[in-house]
Amino acid sequence: MENPYVIEDKVLPLIPLRGISIFPHMVIHFDVGREKSVQALEKSMMDDSLILLCTQINPKLEEPTTDDFYHVGTIAKVKQMLKLPGGSIRVLVEGLNRGKVKKVVQREPYFLAEAEEYSYNPDEIKKSQDIEAAMRLVIVDLEEYISLNSKVSSEVLFTISDIEDPGRLADVIASYVFLKQEDDQRILEAFDLYERLEVLHQILQEEIELLRIEDKINQRVRKQINKIQKEYYLKEQLKAIQKELGEDDDLSGEIEDYEAKLSKIKMPKEVKDKAMKEVERLSRTPSHSAEVGVIRTYLDWIVELPWDKETREKIDIKKAREILDADHYGLKDVKERILEFIAIRKLSTSIKGPILCLVGPPGVGKTSIAKSIASSLNRNFVRMSLGGVRDEAEIRGHRRTYVGAMPGRIISSIKKAGTKNPVFLFDEIDKLANDFRGDPASALLEVLDPEQNTTFTDHFLDAPFDLSKVLFITTANTTSSIPPALLDRMEVIRISGYTEEEKLEIAKRYLLPKQMKEHGLKETQMTMSDGAIRDVINYYTREAGVRNLERNLAGICRKAAKTIVEKNKKIVRINSGNLSGYLGAGRYRYDTVEEKDQIGVANGLAWTAVGGETLSVEVTTMQGTGKTQLTGKLGEVMKESAMAGISFIRANAERLNVPMDFHKDMDIHIHVPEGAIPKDGPSAGITIAIALISALSNTPVYKDVAMTGEITLRGRVLPVGGIKEKLLAAHRMGIKKVLIPFENEKDLEEIPDKIKKKMEFVLVKNLDEVLLHALVAKGDDDENK
Ligand code: ADP
Repeated sequence: MENPYVIEDKVLPLIPLRGISIFPHMVIHFDVGREKSVQALEKSMMDDSLILLCTQINPKLEEPTTDDFYHVGTIAKVKQMLKLPGGSIRVLVEGLNRGKVKKVVQREPYFLAEAEEYSYNPDEIKKSQDIEAAMRLVIVDLEEYISLNSKVSSEVLFTISDIEDPGRLADVIASYVFLKQEDDQRILEAFDLYERLEVLHQILQEEIELLRIEDKINQRVRKQINKIQKEYYLKEQLKAIQKELGEDDDLSGEIEDYEAKLSKIKMPKEVKDKAMKEVERLSRTPSHSAEVGVIRTYLDWIVELPWDKETREKIDIKKAREILDADHYGLKDVKERILEFIAIRKLSTSIKGPILCLVGPPGVGKTSIAKSIASSLNRNFVRMSLGGVRDEAEIRGHRRTYVGAMPGRIISSIKKAGTKNPVFLFDEIDKLANDFRGDPASALLEVLDPEQNTTFTDHFLDAPFDLSKVLFITTANTTSSIPPALLDRMEVIRISGYTEEEKLEIAKRYLLPKQMKEHGLKETQMTMSDGAIRDVINYYTREAGVRNLERNLAGICRKAAKTIVEKNKKIVRINSGNLSGYLGAGRYRYDTVEEKDQIGVANGLAWTAVGGETLSVEVTTMQGTGKTQLTGKLGEVMKESAMAGISFIRANAERLNVPMDFHKDMDIHIHVPEGAIPKDGPSAGITIAIALISALSNTPVYKDVAMTGEITLRGRVLPVGGIKEKLLAAHRMGIKKVLIPFENEKDLEEIPDKIKKKMEFVLVKNLDEVLLHALVAKGDDDENK
């Protein structure tokens, strides 16, 4: 294509532009600040308003020389000038044609250049196919550029749609898109129309490529940000909706609170993750939802459990002994066993010793011993009663899906203990077994098993809690109903009941001072004579332990305190004489022994979970048809042992002096009073037999003899359990002579000397020996009378 340009020489004032390039056909305003430029502008206004605008190569230069600006620029017409405050001028210019500096003819006070103006008449242009094609290309380029660059409005496409002049098209497009200064200059310097389109195409392609890459990076970044942003945005929206619905957004503070607490506590990662998830769930749950309560309960439990709290265990045998002695009277053997247990722990804390099980009747100090163990090891103490625990959920908790679910009692107790290494007392482990043998026992096994309890999982928490640092101690009234698997794990320490003397000492040294203190009574304000205490023991309580004794003493203290306050007394003295004024009439007769030797009544000794008891067996016979009736809530074993007694008597009727045919023409009624209390076991065997023989042979039984022993069909007496408790009970009742099975001889070692002195013990091998000591011999009666 031939060159369409008309080249005309002109002398024009010149302004170096900073940071912008101006193309022909472009209308634009910019500010002129530099004095030199202002003067150039003024010069132009004085002539024909034409000016040559050349871009400065380095926009930062304040005072450019002739070499500091490009020598190809645009000749523009100044259309408007506006003086701005501060001396600079805003000008509106319209680009006309390209201008090429031939020579700078003046440098001061402004640049004056001799330039060639390149102009052409667009109507005269003949477009080659190449130009047509190049024009289309740059239009497509522009479309693409606009689609990728949101800063350029798509309206530009309308503006250029009817431009026929290829040179103008290139210039207009160049003025709309954002190009680097060098690129702008390249387009300005392309005088040839085709070349100009080609340069533009090339530049645009480069730009488009860059924009694409930028876009890709952006998308990638945005994807990541988007997710976070989206959640944030949705949460904000949810908050807004909740606010609209009138629900306070008061959860956010709580959530921060939970997060702060959770981050501080050292706990297994699994648990922390789970809790964090719940916090997250809480943030998404509308505050009025019932679910909030459930989540809150859960989180409260998690943050309040002693995951990382423990006391430092101190093992000091000497101190342990002091503590045990200070809190408990007597119990010499028990204390020794406990000190041994502690000593073993000191030797090796890694060995998991057996679990202590303190067995004995209520009120003998099992709980208080466990407390002393805790304080001598510097551990916290917590107690959980297993009495009446029916189902596994009580131990292990309910799953959270369950309405009103809560953690089980183990976890609750641990929370109460406040540390992860307390002494943990399972009270009445035998009652658990009695009520239910299934799951609670096996859950308990897991808890007690050092192999398994590191990851004890409560259903509610649904996360493991380490119980391995807990020192478990159990108590029971009897070992007989503890499931064997549990009993296996335990080291049993038996605590039997106290004698009257021991109770007196315990009352004087421990219970009374304790109760006085609790009731705010000073030592000088109340005294209680030994006789009065003995009376409380004998007439107001009937127990192996000292629990009711303590309760009665508390009652006395209460009354005494009242008397002191109401009647303005200085001191209250309690003795046998005025005791009933404080406690009412005695509930129990100390001496329950019958006044006379009776026919058909024999004193037995029973051992129950609450200690020893005396029990009398009554038998009456009447004309009848050989029926036998047993009443008094007797268990199967007891009934069978009565039957064995009857068979023995039938077989030995003649020798025993009973009617040969009693089993045919007599009815027998055996009754064991206090009929409402269930009784069972074989140990009343000889007592029933003696009562039967007495009734059938019409021979009285000594009123102050008591007996215990199992009987065989052949009349042998077999050993029974609970001898010590039984003997203590017999002593309480005022019995003088006790018949016990020969094979129980070794049990007598445990009997306090004071009791041995007051009672006679007879070891019996068979029923004949029992008869000898129990039945009043013929003629005896007469002699006594
Ligand atoms: P248990 O747990 O065996 O039912 P507790 O430990 O509750 O019995 O004891 C009941 C009360 O009797 C407690 O106040 C306890 O301190 C007191 N006690 C029991 N035995 C003794 C003892 N040998 N010396 C001093 N106080 C005792």
